[in-house]
Amino acid sequence: MELIDGKLISSKLKDQVKGNANSYFQTPILAVITIGDDEASKVYVKNKKQACEYCGMSFMHFDYVHNVKESVVIKKIKELNKDKSVNGIIVQLPIPETYDVNKIINTIDPDKDVDGLTFANQGKLISGEENILIPCTPKGILEILKEIKIDLEGKHVVVVGRSSLVGKPIMLECLKRNATCTICHSKTKDLKKHTKDADVLIVCVGKKHLIDKTMIKKDSVIIDVGINREEGKLYGDVNPNVDELCSMRTPVPGGVGPMTVVMLLKNTMMAYEKQNGVTHE
Ligand code: NAP
Repeated sequence: MELIDGKLISSKLKDQVKGNANSYFQTPILAVITIGDDEASKVYVKNKKQACEYCGMSFMHFDYVHNVKESVVIKKIKELNKDKSVNGIIVQLPIPETYDVNKIINTIDPDKDVDGLTFANQGKLISGEENILIPCTPKGILEILKEIKIDLEGKHVVVVGRSSLVGKPIMLECLKRNATCTICHSKTKDLKKHTKDADVLIVCVGKKHLIDKTMIKKDSVIIDVGINREEGKLYGDVNPNVDELCSMRTPVPGGVGPMTVVMLLKNTMMAYEKQNGVTHE
């Protein structure tokens, strides 16, 4: 059994991004909008800023108080859309429930939507287009599968969780790669029956150790996306006792998590390249 080192894969990719960003004639710029005081978001935004700085990208942060008018945020996004020096825009989620999150997200120019959450980019994903901006966590999972040389064609991929951020996009990307896909959720009857049949099991639920060794197939590859905090410690959705049976697994922490921030940088780079007509031979 092999634990997949997401930290190592992500640091290699970060250096690749750094190399590319340094070769551009302009510094790529990522703009991040936050609304309210979410503690976890503060940590995520700090990590994104540090990663941008490491790679030689510029980071702009527009930090709004929890009761800022929606029109102020929309106006700022429209300004950033027009600003040719800004390549990527994200609104850090979650935002307070009083806002119309879809309206705010869909104001972002799809070419600058480096979280891949606008309906325009989700539509491209559903229609199977290549080279598009997709959400960062599924993009990170695909990089992991590439790194460990898993060819998805003909494999049975079972995804547990159906959010627009992780579950649905990773299922669609696996389908694009000719996997046979099953997607499970909170109303799935007999979850075990499905997970036990997975060659590749991707779990993105947010429930500590939901999946254990009785629920997996021998020699399967397990991608654990879950992040569950308990008394200051992080746990995944998968019980480490699966190691008795699986062939490879991403640990929590140190698996999928470190990939997500780097994928935001990769998406910003991709947006920059499209906007500036940069091609690779
Ligand atoms: P989410 O929007 O809350 O979605 C959770 C999904 O799990 C839903 O589809 C839900 O089903 C399903 N679910 C809940 N209980 C279940 C059960 N008992 N059996 C089967 N399915 C069940 O969460 P998310 O944003 O996708 O995130 C999922 C987890 O990944 C969280 O722990 C989050 O912190 C983590 N995460 C990690 C990263 C990273 O970088 N590592 C990034 C994003 C998210 P219904 O649709 O029926 O409600």
